[in-house]
This record gives sequence, C-alpha cells and structure tokens, in this order.
Amino acid sequence: MKVPLLDINAQYSPILDEIRAEIEKVFATHAYKLGPQVKEFEEEIQQFCSVKHAIGCSSGTDALLLALLALNIGDGDEVITTPFTFFATVSSIHRIGAKPVFIDVTPDTYNIDPNKIEKAITAKTKAIIVVHLFGQPAEMDRIMEIAKKNNLKVVEDNAQGIGAKFDGKTAGAIGDIGTLSFFPSKNLGAMGDAGMCLTNNPDLSAKLFQLREHGENPQYYHKWVGLNSRLDTIQAAVLLVKLRYLAGWSEMRRQNARYYYENMSDIPQIKLPFIHKKAESNFNQFTIVAEKRDELKNYLISKDIGCAIYYPKPLHLQECFSYLNYKSGDFLISEELSKKVLSIPVYSELSRQQQNYVIDSIRNFYNQE
Ligand SMILES: *Cc1c(COP(=O)(O)O)cnc(C)c1O
Repeated sequence: MKVPLLDINAQYSPILDEIRAEIEKVFATHAYKLGPQVKEFEEEIQQFCSVKHAIGCSSGTDALLLALLALNIGDGDEVITTPFTFFATVSSIHRIGAKPVFIDVTPDTYNIDPNKIEKAITAKTKAIIVVHLFGQPAEMDRIMEIAKKNNLKVVEDNAQGIGAKFDGKTAGAIGDIGTLSFFPSKNLGAMGDAGMCLTNNPDLSAKLFQLREHGENPQYYHKWVGLNSRLDTIQAAVLLVKLRYLAGWSEMRRQNARYYYENMSDIPQIKLPFIHKKAESNFNQFTIVAEKRDELKNYLISKDIGCAIYYPKPLHLQECFSYLNYKSGDFLISEELSKKVLSIPVYSELSRQQQNYVIDSIRNFYNQE
C-alpha cells in the first residue's frame, strides 16, 4: 500500500472545477494586480482567524519580513526566537538587519519555553517571534504577559497553525502581528506561493498595506522602504475556494491524529505529540519522537510510507548563522529533537486502512529487533 506524507491530488480532485471557475473570473477582468479576489480572501481570513485586519502578501517568508519592518525592527535590535523551526523564522530577523537570539523549546510541546524568555532579554531586545510549530500554538497567555511586562512586540509565525487555538483564542490573532503561509503543502496551500499578515492594530494594518507595495502612499511617494510583495490575484482565487473547506479538513486531521493516539500510544519506542491542555492543534504535522529514528524512517520509506524530518539541523548550528557564535550543546532539547523527530502522514484524506498500515509498519519495525 502507498501512503504519501501528503496527497495533493486527493485534496484537489473534488474541488478543481470550483477552482477553475474562480480563476476564470480573473481571466474575465485581467485584474492580476490586487484584483477583487485578494480583498475578498483577506476578508474571509479575517472571519476565519477572528482578527480585524488581514494583509495578503507573496509568501510566509515575506509576511515575516513585513511584520518586522512594520514594527520598526532593524539594525542593532535583538529578536528572541527558537532554533527548532523552519529557516524563514530566523532568516527574516537576519534579513532586516537585526540579531536572532535563540532560546530552547520545551521538551513536551517543542514550542518556545516561556520560562527561558526573560533571561534572554537585554536592552536591545525588541521582539519575540513565537512559532506555533506543527500546528500547536505556543503558550500565548504567558508569552503575552512577559512581552507586556518587558515592553516587547510579539510576532506569531503561524505558517503552520492556521485555525489553531490557544485558550479559545485564534493563533495568529493574539500577538501584535501574526503571519500565515499558503505554501502548497501548508494546511491551506495555494497553487504556488502566498502569505498573509494578521493584526488587530489599525495603524500596523495601514503600514503593512503600504509596505507590501514598496512602502508607497500615494503612488510614487515613499514614506518607508517596503517590499514588492503583493498577494497574487490567481492565488487568492484558489485560496478563496479552498478556505471554504479548511475547517472540515482540519477536523479530519484531528480525527486522524485521534486514531493514532488510540492505536499507537502503547509502542514504548515512540512518543506521540503532547498537546498542551489549553491548546487546540490543527495537526499540520503529526510528529513523533522515535528511537532509532533514521532506521525507522528508512524502513517506512521501504514500505512506501511517506515521512519526513522537520527539522534535521537546528538553526543555531547552520553555517550561515555561525557569526552568532552558538555551538553544539547550547540548546540541548532542540538538538535532541533534530535527531529523533519524524513526521508521519496525517493529512485529511488519509484512510483508516492507510493509517492501520502506518501503525502496523511502525509496530513491525520495533518488533523485528
Ligand atoms: C512554511 C513556513 C514559513 C515560510 O513560508 P513560505 O510561504 O514558504 O515563505 C515560515 N515559517 C514557518 C514556521 C514555516 O513552516
């Protein structure tokens, strides 16, 4: 049996006609630059994420850059985040001229450890980028409290956590600015690249709308140096259709996750994802911590089961960040996770039969020893 890590075909085939019809509307007007679908999609996301303002842009990476630019972060500033995340969280800090300052994640949720934030704060610290890793929000109540007390801005890198909740609040709508990615393999994926910033602050919203178009207002008059980072109208048309299905897809992911918990919790060599009692994950990934991880990965691949390591090398040990002078041993939890994590299929259209095959294969791998 073949079980891919993500089955894009299975997601698209039932809705392709609907998407074609929406894209046809773009061809009818040729409004490629910020056409009506962009605004419509921004408004739908505001509803979906319970947030006042949504600003479409061209990727999740640009959304992070725009967020930091809007918050006036740059040369000489420090931004606290974790080394166990996707590269873009940290490259955005570097790219705007600020310095990434790492702290470790918690060993249970793999999200930023609120207990470690205050020790990392200096006179130069301006912001925290919180990552809602694998679709589970970080402890936003404690993080917001610490940020408020220390006068820091909070950016939520919510590329993986669309629709997830912490303490009843929607991820991405809690900090000063939240960012979304619509990279094709995200829970809400475009047919290409797209991203978004979320905020409840009208001033930040106005600034973000300008920053995504070279910081201009009116045209050819520039108050800030922004980016060329509009949300493409054709991508907005695709996303508008797919957003209608997102809540259902997320529920299916949660059910698939539940099935794993019910049927795999007894395997002593693996640890299933721990979800904080106040958090509701969208299960962007179902990431286990596994003994003999690399052997398990090869075994599953030999059985036609898709799986992947997010992430094999923590960011404080990446060559491009060697100038920060971190070393192996600085963030033990992140380093250990990078050696033990394995994400297994949890996508919405996964069948019970496929899940049973995944579970049996993992069991067989450890039983054969
Ligand atoms: C995907 C992702 C991004 C970047 O999004 P792109 O749309 O690919 O630029 C940023 N941060 C995290 C945590 C991500 O998973």
